[in-house]
Amino acid sequence: MIECVYCNERYDDNEIVYNCKKCGSVLEVLIDVDISKDVFECRKNTLWKYKEFMPVDETKIVSLDEGGTPFCKCDKLAKELGIELYVKVEGSNPTGSFKDRGMSVGITKTLELGVDTVGCASTGNTSASLAAYAARASLRCVVLLPSGKVALGKLAQAMFHGAEVLSVNGNFDEALEMITQLALEKHLYLLNSINPYRLEGQKSIGFEIIHELGWESPDRIILPVGNAGNISAIWKGITEFYNAGYMKEKPMMTGIQAEGASPIVNAFRKNSREIIPVENPETVATAIRIGAPVSSIKALGAIYDSDGYSETVTDDEILIAQKEFAQKEGIGVEPASAASIAGLKKLVNVGEIDKGEKVVCVVTGHLLKDPEIAIDACVKPIKIDANAEKLRSILLKR
Ligand SMILES: *Cc1c(COP(=O)(O)O)cnc(C)c1O
Ligand SMILES: [Zn+2]
Repeated sequence: MIECVYCNERYDDNEIVYNCKKCGSVLEVLIDVDISKDVFECRKNTLWKYKEFMPVDETKIVSLDEGGTPFCKCDKLAKELGIELYVKVEGSNPTGSFKDRGMSVGITKTLELGVDTVGCASTGNTSASLAAYAARASLRCVVLLPSGKVALGKLAQAMFHGAEVLSVNGNFDEALEMITQLALEKHLYLLNSINPYRLEGQKSIGFEIIHELGWESPDRIILPVGNAGNISAIWKGITEFYNAGYMKEKPMMTGIQAEGASPIVNAFRKNSREIIPVENPETVATAIRIGAPVSSIKALGAIYDSDGYSETVTDDEILIAQKEFAQKEGIGVEPASAASIAGLKKLVNVGEIDKGEKVVCVVTGHLLKDPEIAIDACVKPIKIDANAEKLRSILLKR
């Protein structure tokens, strides 16, 4: 069953519907699982480890072994901040971002529905992921990207996996509006995060964090927020594990946005559940360059219900955190992902995060997604002749 999060109108599992037909709000898939957590031990470490929580036909699964990503304890950074810190490294998914979790479930649902064309609007990673999973399932794939605003690695992936790539003379929000119209006319199955099955896959990030911590909740989960699907999905997963009796506490959900694209933070500061869209969102973190997040109502619900928080970071703070994190902890992430680390530092500094808190930061995408940003942030390599004497003179100089 699919249910409207606002008016509770219900829809059948096999109806293709993205927004509530009565009130226009977003939908979610209702789950009813009654199973011992012991069944999850000894299974292969992918998101399908938790298949009982995935509302799709098990015989049609399309997977690239997504999920089961590294969960790294980061003691150096933790010590500086006076907290306990773990990082969920989503860049280690098959196409380099958490979007793969959503696409695995979303594409499986596509096969169940018998649709032959899928599509999305994307700031990059959604298109990279959809292109790969559509290829694996032999589906036609159409992706809309805002012209000139997509990181090089992501564009390469979408093109190379054989998607029909359209470069839109407009921003992400406009591209999403266009393709949604075509989806409503049933020309394609839309796999943006408005699609509730996408979020069913992404909730496995929450499952894995709880399982990794020995069925205990961290005090807080921090992640970057763009279209706001992921924070909503993780909270749904956490709530499902809590309701199943697998854990006793829940974490404070903490969403970080870039200063130039922060409608959720603006609403949070007014204690409101309604956002005012940002007209021309701007940030170096292209994956969260979104002015009208479709899952804002769910995301703000997650933040309020969990006694969480929401804060902005500047582009400078993002780029500094990205580089520091790579050089201190050895984990390379794209700018949007570094927003969670920058946000962590800011919230510790202002005293919003207490000393000793157990924090999990979700870093959402791989460093190599955006190689141009990485290269621009570093000094150029030193040119040297092929000669040991030259090498010695350089190495001994420091
Ligand atoms: C998609 C994406 C985000 C934003 O996630 P939302 O679900 O849109 O809030 C953040 N970081 C990266 C790397 C992404 O690909
Ligand atoms: Zn409704």
